[in-house]
Amino acid sequence: MADAPTMEKLVSLAKRRGFVFQSSEVYGGLGSVWDYGPLGVALKRNIKDRWWRSLVQARDDIEGLDAAILMHPRVWEASGHVSGFTDPMVDCRTCKSRFRADKLADARCPQKPSKVPGEHTACDLTEPRQFNLMFKTFMGPVEETAAVVYLRPETAQGTYVNYLNVLNSSRQKVPFGIAQIGKAFRNEITPGNFIFRTREFEQMEMQFFVRPGTDEEWFERWRAVRMAWHEGLGLTPSRLRWHQHGPDELAHYAKAAYDVEYEFPFGWQEIEGIHNRTDFDLRRHQEYSGKKMEYFEQATGERYLPYVVETAAGADRVTLTVMADAYREEMVEAETRVVMGFAPHLAPVKVAVLPLVNKDGMPELALELYHDLRAAMPAFHDASGAIGRRYRRQDEIGTPWCVTVDGDTAGQRSVTVRHRDSMAQDRIGLDQVKSWLQQRLVASG
Ligand code: ATP
Repeated sequence: MADAPTMEKLVSLAKRRGFVFQSSEVYGGLGSVWDYGPLGVALKRNIKDRWWRSLVQARDDIEGLDAAILMHPRVWEASGHVSGFTDPMVDCRTCKSRFRADKLADARCPQKPSKVPGEHTACDLTEPRQFNLMFKTFMGPVEETAAVVYLRPETAQGTYVNYLNVLNSSRQKVPFGIAQIGKAFRNEITPGNFIFRTREFEQMEMQFFVRPGTDEEWFERWRAVRMAWHEGLGLTPSRLRWHQHGPDELAHYAKAAYDVEYEFPFGWQEIEGIHNRTDFDLRRHQEYSGKKMEYFEQATGERYLPYVVETAAGADRVTLTVMADAYREEMVEAETRVVMGFAPHLAPVKVAVLPLVNKDGMPELALELYHDLRAAMPAFHDASGAIGRRYRRQDEIGTPWCVTVDGDTAGQRSVTVRHRDSMAQDRIGLDQVKSWLQQRLVASG
């Protein structure tokens, strides 16, 4: 069994190999904001594409949308975010740290008391105060109250206010859904755990509009679909579970809510929420905007506000999940081999082409093969260093296959393919390499 990954190792690999960097690192970084490097952007894009394909492309009853980040400020009054999107915050008067009161284990300051006089010797917490998590900015040239707008804290509201636009411009009927991938911003009090909780992040949200009375059935259906999607990422099944929200955990808009949780190195945590939001949002937008939001059902001649079943996942959180699940260390010939065991369909690089040595026509043949392959899939060419070291580098970034051009390639028109997980090698014909890889990529999901 592979070692459980530690976050430290994962963060260090992410930086070393170009998955994720701290934002504005040369200036000392910016609190809980991260940048995706060449491999990270490819991995996250593969995850988002898979989500989009499974919901928008592979189904007839869901449409895509890309709403703006800035919205009319009334939207956030209607949604309840201006008055209610708050976390209880406490300050420690001694060490000046700030915490979310609901996350403190025993109402004690978690900073270690210091023995140095004048430093933190005892915790002295303030009473909790409600802190709004929305980022404010100003629209236009004047910084005045009337010009305040918010960076959206969720993509969902862009979907609600566009629900009739989508319905009227597409040929959809209730039940149908709207899917969106986009940035959201929350001024989290205690962000952390790398890209798990950040202040700028990307959501993958889908709102499914249904006839009231059918919401519970759709809720169960969507739960099953979403869990299957996470399993399809190749995650370890025993590290996935459901968490049902109890009455005191339910958000103000929700009738029922379940989280998909993953067992991270820092414990079980939510990666996606499935919510039965009732007609709360449409009703509120109808009230605040004065515009009718009802759906007219031709078959029955009835008018009603649809109920909404929402599936809300974080692209960054799922990326962290995939990375944490993929990381493993193995002892090979008294050396530690680090492997990112990504499912091939998620791996940022699918194949590396390596000349065994840089002579006897091998570099030319390898480059030719590389150029041919990169037109079909993300490929990498590496001609420098010992072959063993080059294999290890590919293991560390999760490349499922390495193709090696050796002294027999020119004469026999064949190459070796090395498998990342088993390290076994197969000999295959040079002109079959592309289709061999394509078949395996398709089979991986
Ligand atoms: P949490 O309880 O972790 O704060 P939440 O229940 O407020 O999350 P939702 O509002 O349901 O989260 O958002 C849906 C998804 O968006 C979450 O499951 C998570 O994957 C992602 N998400 C929410 N907040 C953040 C954040 N600060 N950083 C990264 N991803 C986030």
